[in-house]
Amino acid sequence: MKIHIDTNVCTGHGVCEGIRPDIFEVGDDGIVHLVSEDFTEDDRQDLEDAVDQCPTQALRLEG
Ligand code: SF4
Repeated sequence: MKIHIDTNVCTGHGVCEGIRPDIFEVGDDGIVHLVSEDFTEDDRQDLEDAVDQCPTQALRLEG
């Protein structure tokens, strides 16, 4: 399972960070970055929520 971030459309709202700050962090550049890629199936629901709630559809869950 991987998270793909479309950095061209992320506007740094931080909705994803609000859901899982241990995975997502909006950087000084105003774009979200992955803090950790160390997630498992237990994290799938949170990641799906982040994908669904991202206002610009910048996130995609792969696998
Ligand atoms: S919710 Fe979407 S637009 Fe907002 S920081 Fe996360 S990836 Fe970027």
